[in-house]
Amino acid sequence: MQIYWTKINKIIEETPEVRTYLLDCPDGFVWEEGSHTHFALEGFNAGEKPNRSLIRHMSISTLPHEGAIGITTRIREQCSEFKAILRGMVVGEEVAIFKTHSNVPLKREGKNVYLLSSGVGLATFRPLVLDYLEQADGVNHIHSLNVDSSKEFLFPTVFESVPKKKFTARFVDNRSDYYGEVEDLAADKDGLFYVVGSDEFLTQNIELLREQGIGPEQIMLDKREQQLAEFFQADLTV
Ligand SMILES: Cc1cc2nc3c(=O)[nH]c(=O)nc-3n(C[C@H](O)[C@H](O)[C@H](O)COP(=O)(O)OP(=O)(O)OC[C@H]3O[C@@H](n4cnc5c(N)ncnc54)[C@H](O)[C@@H]3O)c2cc1C
Repeated sequence: MQIYWTKINKIIEETPEVRTYLLDCPDGFVWEEGSHTHFALEGFNAGEKPNRSLIRHMSISTLPHEGAIGITTRIREQCSEFKAILRGMVVGEEVAIFKTHSNVPLKREGKNVYLLSSGVGLATFRPLVLDYLEQADGVNHIHSLNVDSSKEFLFPTVFESVPKKKFTARFVDNRSDYYGEVEDLAADKDGLFYVVGSDEFLTQNIELLREQGIGPEQIMLDKREQQLAEFFQADLTV
């Protein structure tokens, strides 16, 4: 396993609680849209075993041609040790990234794509949308629906409807509106539904989509094969 140590080159305050850390791209580090990585802080590999409290899974919120690896995360006042250390970090300090993989690349199968997310889950979709806006081949239309109770919606300049490019985006601030809209979107029985958020959020979305007749093969989660099976197994027993 290759561990890439790299420097923070910019910190963007997206909202009062959400920051994007832009990291230098180390030589040889490659990724595609929808990727997540293991993001680790100094000392994580100092002992015999990796110190898990210094490692988190994070999506990469940028595309390679932007020239930086973006990590977007919410840091609340009450937070984990990991986030407390991260909050104190400044430009020039080093972090590690390793084991990078995309479970949710953009499928170009000529279908409508629905990107369903809660909160910073939108970060996973930012590169998919940029990729689509640059090159729409094989995708009919993309619609993003994000729910964020903070009402501080992320990436407003990217998630802005561009009807002539067949891209539409909606933000809502409560789950009731959100699930009402998902039900409407599920009227498209041939669509592809990407879902990103907490495990509870994924389970509720799967349940609703399945009730509306959407098949498991039409639902994309940022999970590995084994975990996917667990989500859809649970769905069968509901
Ligand atoms: C494939 C994948 C991709 C992911 N991508 C991202 C991503 O792009 N961005 C991202 O942010 N996360 C992402 N995650 C989730 C991420 O790995 C973390 O699990 C998540 O950010 C929570 O971080 P944390 O455990 O450090 O807790 P925190 O975010 O610090 O806390 C979680 C919750 O617990 C509360 N809390 C924590 N500590 C305390 C305390 N001491 N007292 C009271 N309340 C407390 C917080 O207020 C918060 O509500 C991803 C996960 C996966 C599996």
